Amino acid sequence: MDHTTRLEVRNRAGNRCEYCRLRQQHEEENPFHVEHVIAQQHGGTHDLENLALACSWCNAIKGPNLASLDPDSGELTRLYHPRKDRWEDHFRRDGAFILGHTDVGRTTAWLLRFNDADNLNQRHLLLELGELD
Ligand SMILES: [Zn+2]
Repeated sequence: MDHTTRLEVRNRAGNRCEYCRLRQQHEEENPFHVEHVIAQQHGGTHDLENLALACSWCNAIKGPNLASLDPDSGELTRLYHPRKDRWEDHFRRDGAFILGHTDVGRTTAWLLRFNDADNLNQRHLLLELGELD
């Protein structure tokens, strides 16, 4: 993947994680990753339509996963796709929490552990600073 592609993905994402929406400026010590929404392992390409910007946390946990089990129903459910889905259609923020309100949102929020203590603490801090949007 070339530098221009990486830059294009970063700019398109507004320099924020396309999964948990953390801004790069709030995580300067950990450069965000350009990740394959559909992993190469599953036939995903380097096309811009298959690339997304992800923070280190989301990128590491998502790995090549495409789906998981909905924590409510136990049904196999695909993960959120930043190119095909709108964030607001699947997630909402409630204070420091990010809650999924569809099967896709719940499954993704659960798998990527959006509300683990470290993430919540960071979002609480950003809320207090008026930096969370
Ligand atoms: Zn993230």
